[in-house]
Amino acid sequence: MSGNHFEAMSKQALTELLERLQSKQQKEADAKERILHELRVHQVELEMQNRELREVQERLEESRDRYADLYDFAPLGYFTFDRNGLILAVNLTGAILLGRDRSRMIGLPFINFLTRRDRPAFLKHLHNCLHENLQTSAEFSLSLPTGKTVEVELTSTPSGHAGEQLEFCRTAMTDISERKSAEQKLRLAAKVLENTQEGVLVTDAQKHILAVNPAFTKVTGYSAEDVIGKSPDILQSGIQDAAFYQQMWKSLKQTGHWQGEIWNRRKSHDIYPEWLNISLIKNAAGEIEHYVGIFSDISSQENMKKHLHEMAYYDSLTGLPNRNLLMERLRHELLQAKRSGSMMAILFLDIDRFKVINDTLGHSMGDLLLKEVASRLGKCIREGDTLARLGGDEFVALLQDVNNEQVAIQAAGRMLEGLSLPLTLQEHELFITTSIGICLYPMDGEDIDTLIRNADAAMYRAKESGRNNYQFYAAAMNEVAQQQFRLESGLRRAIERNELFALYQPQIDLESGRLVGAEALLRWRHPELGLVSPKDFIPIAEDCGLIDQLGNWVLRTACKQNKAWQDAGLPPIRVAVNISSRQFKQKDLFLVVSEALEESGLAPQYLELELTESIFMEEIHTAISTLKRIKQLGVALSIDDFGTGFSSLSRLRRFPIDTIKIDQSFVQELMGDTDSEAVVKAIIALAHNLKLNTIAEGVETEGQRTFLQDNGCQLMQGYLYARPLEPSQFSALLI
Ligand code: C2E
Ligand code: MG
Ligand code: MG
Repeated sequence: MSGNHFEAMSKQALTELLERLQSKQQKEADAKERILHELRVHQVELEMQNRELREVQERLEESRDRYADLYDFAPLGYFTFDRNGLILAVNLTGAILLGRDRSRMIGLPFINFLTRRDRPAFLKHLHNCLHENLQTSAEFSLSLPTGKTVEVELTSTPSGHAGEQLEFCRTAMTDISERKSAEQKLRLAAKVLENTQEGVLVTDAQKHILAVNPAFTKVTGYSAEDVIGKSPDILQSGIQDAAFYQQMWKSLKQTGHWQGEIWNRRKSHDIYPEWLNISLIKNAAGEIEHYVGIFSDISSQENMKKHLHEMAYYDSLTGLPNRNLLMERLRHELLQAKRSGSMMAILFLDIDRFKVINDTLGHSMGDLLLKEVASRLGKCIREGDTLARLGGDEFVALLQDVNNEQVAIQAAGRMLEGLSLPLTLQEHELFITTSIGICLYPMDGEDIDTLIRNADAAMYRAKESGRNNYQFYAAAMNEVAQQQFRLESGLRRAIERNELFALYQPQIDLESGRLVGAEALLRWRHPELGLVSPKDFIPIAEDCGLIDQLGNWVLRTACKQNKAWQDAGLPPIRVAVNISSRQFKQKDLFLVVSEALEESGLAPQYLELELTESIFMEEIHTAISTLKRIKQLGVALSIDDFGTGFSSLSRLRRFPIDTIKIDQSFVQELMGDTDSEAVVKAIIALAHNLKLNTIAEGVETEGQRTFLQDNGCQLMQGYLYARPLEPSQFSALLI
């Protein structure tokens, strides 16, 4: 349209056109705006969708992980088998159950992991699942690489069609070993109950009968149907009164069980005695769950006799022999002792202040206490000895073949000690003591009545002298016991109080007459008793465990003394130290010896150990190895008191011994006694054969010396030359 055209248009028309133009422009702008807006909205939606998508993906991944975890760590083993039973997949639990590495199992036939016996059954199982399209369960035994078998249950479900065929089966595996063994135990328990001769009855906490066994039916005549759900009261005969049952339930509640004789009534109305044992069974929370009664019919002749015998000879509370049986045994033992000329000891025990305990804590506590006492005392006697309960709180121990009063002293000591340990009875802590009277056969009496009476009298004396002690019937014996006690407590302090010292007895070479050695002999100067002989205190030290300490002291003292003589310029000699066989049992004699040498600076060839033959009788292997090690140090070894023990030649050869020391009893009988002469000659000949030296101890006369020298003995020791001497006297001889 040209300008002229516009000019030709009326003003109005122009205005109209302008307006239209403007409105069109406006519309276009609006539309643009709208589109822009829509675009923005769309973009936001897109972003939201994107975010959702991402979230879904994350969730998917998470659930896949969770599924994998669930699969792997499920409490069941999961397997996928193909049609041939090859393993296509297995979770971790499954691999662990089979005890194999998972990666090595894929592709292997599952039957490889089963016991041979179960393999055909598994193939059948697989067939049922895949060919019959059935979900199947069966039990199998796995054979583990460790050689063990594990019982499992397999549940297989068919899965995955390929055309008509099922492709694979998914199988869950559960370990049922525990269930199996519990089942087996149950079966066993049931079988035992079925077959036992004793009647068994089980009730719930309200005393309703839950189960009975066939023996129950046999004895009572009631079948299981007759009694289940009923109370055991139907068996009551009415012979025992209410107080009896009260006492029974009370004891059941207190101790958890009760046993005794009870008269019951059969279905036929007969009354019969039974020996009944009732126990409580509690659950984990400590509440009563069941009562179990086990009984035997004691009406038959056989049973009755046995029961009567038990009643007649045993104490029903403690199960110990009663007075009757004690008397019978005493009679028997007395005859034996008379025949063999052996000694016997009777210990009469009475618990101190038992009446007070019984009165204050009640009889049932008293009973518990007596049982505990019986069991503790039982541990203090030797096998073959008799412990009996006379009644009340009186017990008697009968010790046979007692060599000396020591055996009785030791048993009584053990009893006092055993009872002195605190004893806990139902939250009560009790301290009890006992008084013991000891009587010896044949010294204190020759017949049963006298012996028991005297032991009883001695027990009273023990009460009078303050309880918690033992007394012998014969006063002289108490002296012995007291002396022993005094020595024992004195010995414990002897070392620290410097009451011990050693004497040295010279050892002489018979050929040259030269002093070549010394034996260290221990002495104890007791502050009140004066000089005590080692024959008296060494056995005590051995008994009370002090021998190691004493022995080590002598060893160190002798080594130091010998070194001191050498340091003083005296000619070197060898010092011999006695080693008790008990000492030989200490942990490491080798160490003790090498320490004594090191500490003193004494060269090992100047030390000798005197061992007794008993060392060679016991624990031969440790003995040989210890001796060999000591010997390797360069220390000499000899056997003391040779000829008095029982060591055999063949044994002797296995020990690294240098010298045999002929016991003084043979030496002293030398002149005149042809037997001793023969023994000494034989010992010397034997020693020569084994390339050992000989030394004779206890040489007192010139005649003995000549005999020994003539027969080839090398060394001697004895009063003929010198007694055991103080170190200063000894050194005078050395110069
Ligand atoms: P043993 O080892 O056989 O010691 C020899 C004993 O005979 C010593 O008695 C000694 O004094 C004594 N005796 C020496 N010559 C004669 C003599 O000519 N005539 C007579 N009648 N006796 C003589 P002792 O000192 O009373 O020792 C006795 C036993 O005590 C020793 O016998 C030994 O077995 C043991 N003993 C001594 N000291 C110790 C020690 O330190 N440790 C260990 N474990 N036992 C020791
Ligand atoms: Mg000796
Ligand atoms: Mg000797």
